[in-house]
Amino acid sequence: MKQDTVWHFRACLKDILNNMDNKRNTIQRQLVLDAVRELGIHPTAEQVFDHIIEKYPSISKATVYRNLSQMAESCELLNIGSFDGSTHYDHNCHNHYHFICDECKQVFDIDDYFPDICARIKNMDGFDITNHNISFNGLCRVCKSKKR
Ligand SMILES: [Zn+2]
Ligand SMILES: [Zn+2]
Repeated sequence: MKQDTVWHFRACLKDILNNMDNKRNTIQRQLVLDAVRELGIHPTAEQVFDHIIEKYPSISKATVYRNLSQMAESCELLNIGSFDGSTHYDHNCHNHYHFICDECKQVFDIDDYFPDICARIKNMDGFDITNHNISFNGLCRVCKSKKR
């Protein structure tokens, strides 16, 4: 084989492998995103992994965890903090708040948003806010009715 041909062959192979890698990454990201959306409960990484592994037993925990944190960094998902020791994720990246039930630990969306809250804090303390995470605690409707 001529050297040129060898180089060309190598370049093609590299392209193919890169492509396969990209494709696999895209599929994994989509799986993770779909799982967070399908679960719809502001799931933990553990819950996302349990959901995906039912259909795709070959996926590793490390892959799921890595994708979740990467997607939270790139704002494709929202990291809503770890109020119970594990980080929870949200597919809804729009500005909204959360209500966490002290009893059943469910996370509810509060679709209200107070846009002036960041401006007010900035004015008060001179902080530059890049992100905020507000949650309320208490009893949800179901748990409240059980307590009666
Ligand atoms: Zn509850
Ligand atoms: Zn939410």
